[in-house]
Amino acid sequence: MINKKGIEIYDDRLKPLLIPNAALKKLTDGAVHGEGPVYLPEDDSVIWSDAHGNRLLRWSPTEGNKVIRQPSHYQSGNYLDLQGRLVSCSQGQRAIIRQESDGEWKVLVDRYQGKRLNSPNDLVVKSDGTIWFSDPTFGITHENQGYGGEQEQAGDFVYRFDPETGEIDAVIKEMAKPNGLAFSPDESLLYVSDTSAAEHPQQHHYIRVYEVRENRYAENGRVFAVIEPGEPDGFRLDVHGNIFTSSADSVQVYAPDGTHLGKILVPEVCTNLTFGGREGNRLFITAKTSLYAIALNTSGLSIN
Ligand code: MG
Repeated sequence: MINKKGIEIYDDRLKPLLIPNAALKKLTDGAVHGEGPVYLPEDDSVIWSDAHGNRLLRWSPTEGNKVIRQPSHYQSGNYLDLQGRLVSCSQGQRAIIRQESDGEWKVLVDRYQGKRLNSPNDLVVKSDGTIWFSDPTFGITHENQGYGGEQEQAGDFVYRFDPETGEIDAVIKEMAKPNGLAFSPDESLLYVSDTSAAEHPQQHHYIRVYEVRENRYAENGRVFAVIEPGEPDGFRLDVHGNIFTSSADSVQVYAPDGTHLGKILVPEVCTNLTFGGREGNRLFITAKTSLYAIALNTSGLSIN
């Protein structure tokens, strides 16, 4: 069933997550390829990447949309660390970077076992401060997503990086093109999307789920949900553990047991999303060119 506000409901469990009459609203546009939204509680703004436009943007309700870094070296996923600092994936620098208090960007890690990373795409900060990130090759194989170069790693891995010790481990090595990632509310599960179908249609467009052991291992991976149309580039969980994922036509919602609850239709290809707003219940959605928002009757697991 499709309601008047462009929401498709496949399971009644979606209804209590919605606010009646709340509608998707376009906040701004003008990006080449929006990605990596992160909410800043200090001023109710959203930082988002124009990943193919090589710019970092900031939208706020009072100042609108502004370019805050150009070139951004093809920055993609963004997140806040436990101190509220912006940590990001730099596809161009092939590194995880962090903005310091003086505004400068510092490379935190750009190598694994002495070899350069591919081009980190998306990341999440765990409650212990470790940064878990995906490292597909998009930034070295697509000239509009990075500066090219040779692939030095043996594959496209998911890493766990501890910024306190500098320790980096490859925690998932079996995926083709890992991309978005998020933990379950108790951090016992790690969800990771594989968007290899974007390059090779016969490959994957699904979210896998892994069991997290000892806060440092990801094991027993299995397919959680196959997402179509398009790919689940980025996604987030709400406080109940429901998964809100991007796709080509919508934000799609899955219950923790994998049931497809429904879709929030978006009028262009959806790339990533984050929860924010003063109550944590506003879903900010990056699409190909635009930033959208919709109020929900649930809140993000993290306002990041
Ligand atoms: Mg991504």
